[in-house]
Amino acid sequence: MKKIMGISASQGISIGRVFYYLDEYLRVPEYTVKENEVNVEIARFEIAIEKTREELVELKNSLNKENSINEAGFLDAHILMLDDPELSKQIKTKIIDSRYNAERALFETVKGFVELIKASSDQYIKERTFDIRDVAKRVLGNLLYKKRVDLRDLNEEVILIAHELLPSDTLTMDKRMVKGIATDAGGRTSHTAILARAFEIPAVLGLRNITAEVRNGDMVIIDGGKGIVIVRPDEPTLEQYRKKLNDWQKKEVELLNLNVLPAETKDGKKILLKANIEIPEETESVISHGADGVGLYRSEFFFIQPGEFASEDEQYKAYSQVLSSMGDKPVTIRTIDLGGDKILPGTAYFEETNPILGWRSIRFCMTRKDIFETQLRALLRASVHGNLRIMFPMISGVEELDQVLEFYELVKLELEKEGVQFDKNIPLGIMIEVPSAALTADILARKVKFFSIGTNDLIQYTIAVDRGNEKIAYLYEPFHPGVLRLLKMIIEGAHSQSIPVAMCGEMAGDPYAAVILLGLGLDIFSMSSFSVPEIKNIIRSVSMVEAEELVGTIFEMKSYKEIDRFVRGWMDERFEHLRQ
Ligand code: PEP
Ligand code: MG
Repeated sequence: MKKIMGISASQGISIGRVFYYLDEYLRVPEYTVKENEVNVEIARFEIAIEKTREELVELKNSLNKENSINEAGFLDAHILMLDDPELSKQIKTKIIDSRYNAERALFETVKGFVELIKASSDQYIKERTFDIRDVAKRVLGNLLYKKRVDLRDLNEEVILIAHELLPSDTLTMDKRMVKGIATDAGGRTSHTAILARAFEIPAVLGLRNITAEVRNGDMVIIDGGKGIVIVRPDEPTLEQYRKKLNDWQKKEVELLNLNVLPAETKDGKKILLKANIEIPEETESVISHGADGVGLYRSEFFFIQPGEFASEDEQYKAYSQVLSSMGDKPVTIRTIDLGGDKILPGTAYFEETNPILGWRSIRFCMTRKDIFETQLRALLRASVHGNLRIMFPMISGVEELDQVLEFYELVKLELEKEGVQFDKNIPLGIMIEVPSAALTADILARKVKFFSIGTNDLIQYTIAVDRGNEKIAYLYEPFHPGVLRLLKMIIEGAHSQSIPVAMCGEMAGDPYAAVILLGLGLDIFSMSSFSVPEIKNIIRSVSMVEAEELVGTIFEMKSYKEIDRFVRGWMDERFEHLRQ
């Protein structure tokens, strides 16, 4: 038995037999060809590219037919990669100059590209290596006349183990058969992680060497929430996890029974629980987990695919789809929040020395007004299909907000002139994720209809701790007295102007933070759909009097550690299952 720690990518427990999805990419025949065979190699390469293109187009058409959703969007980017002149030039040069066989030339060139991308300090750029490898694997398969194992053809339930799982693998696999996922590579923001969460498949990524530890048919346990994989568990561990799985499933069903009930404290304070989404198809999960709407649609995920920026019509279609699938429930769409840790692959945008504090988010939009205008037009046009709210990220002060609001009015005027139908009174809100905005919350609150606190960034900026840097992760302290004071200030500032405050950072879905946030007066919690039932359960089990008392107590405390220890004890005493 072996226990391996990785990155928790999608919560839940699964126990099953390994299906080892072999990376054919690792077995590349390497030889050199004679001078008179060079043209044959080039022709082989070109035929393989053509064949791959046909395959991708076919895959895209079949996915589009199966789903109304735009899951298949990234395949366009893959098709574009096939046409990349630089890639193809380098491969041909290797065939001509080094007399490499086509497979080897492809492998070496792609390896070079991947190394270059991997050297980037940015997680998003790094994760685009998956797309390049995905395409390369297809071309290689065609060169070798080898059919890729099709994850659509799985005929029994499995735990999928792979070195890396590519976006097209995750999209096309038979989701009823894949009960868990564990991979060597990947992070929380990779496509695989996002899709695993959207499909509710427990997943642990970034395990580094899980493929070296398992063989086909081995028994494994995936604990997605804790980011643990247990290989060939012994009988007592299996028994323990079977029980855990059973309890988890029972708890899930029990919690889902709360769907029809409101998130209301024992003494009658009603809270709205909404969900965060990254891709339109997640709305299904939002509804099935009983959320009161979408509190954050991270629209920039639409733009993180390589290729061109999405057109107005493409965006209009995606936003309309999200709005209409949520019926009359409110949907808050955040305008493009690119930059920092979310960058465009393959472009020179955002190559800055200090990107987290740099040209990002609303700052990017206000200098690339063409891109911003396209998005605002698409949003306004889509507003007739549902209950839309628009939210601007990274606002740092009044002048910036004024300029954004002014620009929004101009776009509205333009649409009106064109005679386009749209909702004239879409509620506008801002994210509070920069300390200067938190400190001036009462002033900003006069200008908008709602706030949403982005704790992921607010904590990063308040404690000056890069949220993506594992070396200083110990400093990332949601219960730091400085953070708690800012939260109090934001909520009081908003309430002084009678506007509601939401929170859409990860803290809103943390069961240990729920009672504190209640006690601070938060009105709306927005989190991954999965977490909604648990947070509802907690809210329904306490009273505002208790929550305010807890806040009173911790505000007397001096340090993060003291607060953290106290809150955990307080919660564990009342919610025993949290301890497991
Ligand atoms: C946040 O910063 O808390 C937030 C919700 O935005 P993101 O995680 O997308 O930066
Ligand atoms: Mg943010």
